[in-house]
Amino acid sequence: PDWPTDGDIKIENISVRYDPSLEPVLRDVSIHFKGGQRVGICGRTGSGKSSLAASLFQIVDTFKGRILIDGVDISHIPLLTLRKRLSIIPQDPVLFQGTIRFNLDPENLRSDDEIWEALEIAQLKQVVTELDMQLDADISEDGVNFSLGQRQLFCIARAFLRKSRILLMDEATASIDLKTDKLLQDVVATAFADRTVITIAHRISTILDSDTVVVLSDGRVVEYDTPENL
Ligand code: ATP
Ligand code: MG
Repeated sequence: PDWPTDGDIKIENISVRYDPSLEPVLRDVSIHFKGGQRVGICGRTGSGKSSLAASLFQIVDTFKGRILIDGVDISHIPLLTLRKRLSIIPQDPVLFQGTIRFNLDPENLRSDDEIWEALEIAQLKQVVTELDMQLDADISEDGVNFSLGQRQLFCIARAFLRKSRILLMDEATASIDLKTDKLLQDVVATAFADRTVITIAHRISTILDSDTVVVLSDGRVVEYDTPENL
């Protein structure tokens, strides 16, 4: 029930497409992320970074190869379980309609203290404290109350509460300023210190302190090394 415990991800020669009628968006990709590693992924727009993230969540059709997490082929894991055990911070997250508490803990598993702790780690405590209803404040449909950076921080808080071993951070594009970018990186580093963290970044500077960097180009891995060797 605790799978995955290590957060080791082995991507074995996968090719991925959105639909059998469409061209593959990833071709023959093999990568091994060891448990607890920090991995940076970069590449130009359209190179397949988000599609690689989608393949970990089985959102796309992996028609060749396989992905093992802690040695288990993810195609054998029920989708709901898979999507609960890995956490993703999407490029443009949509918050659920409902309260802040519901957004952070949809299954109602955590105490208020735990939720406040997550908000503190995600640097959102101040913002929520200032709301009249605090944890019971309603997030309006698609979270328009909050900036993109804040919505990503909410997702980080949710992932922290889930205690996921694996976090995938798909950085928002150019709309994120350097300061917010740095804040998001710092929050992730604190909240997921010993976890496997995969960061999809638009600036190489963001991922220079990763253990491994992967560069994608046109659906293929073109660089795969430590940042020092690149
Ligand atoms: P960006 O830096 O802009 O986020 P990316 O590296 O994340 O780019 P992807 O979103 O993975 O790139 O796109 C890779 C390819 O897959 C592109 O050719 C894109 O048009 C295609 N693609 C992405 N999403 C879909 C989809 N839902 N259906 C069909 N094709 C898609
Ligand atoms: Mg993308």
